[in-house]
Amino acid sequence: MPPLSPAKVTEIAKLLRSFPEHPEHEYVTWRLSLTCGHYADCRAHQSNQSYNASTIDCAECGAIRGVIAAKQLPRNDVAEDSQSPSNEVEIAAVDKEIQALRKKLRAAERRRKTLVD
Ligand SMILES: [Zn+2]
Repeated sequence: MPPLSPAKVTEIAKLLRSFPEHPEHEYVTWRLSLTCGHYADCRAHQSNQSYNASTIDCAECGAIRGVIAAKQLPRNDVAEDSQSPSNEVEIAAVDKEIQALRKKLRAAERRRKTLVD
């Protein structure tokens, strides 16, 4: 498919802007747990069953980071400060860290066994 001409891009942008936006109350907040240990709150329409992003720009680090977990926050539980994660998201991140450490431990134990034997 050839690249779109500037005129076509302008036409498509105009068309997209003409679509009605969803009312504010139809949006929910997803709290994303990032590989750097920070969290980010992102809005999405309530019709989304999940928040699909493998990486996002971390505002704290100023770098692109991986998304470990995404949890939809209850509507009345949206904190102003995105650096105060809900326990469940933090638990998911810690669980993932424990899994990685266990894997590393098993590898180290196997390596030690080969040295001892
Ligand atoms: Zn970060």
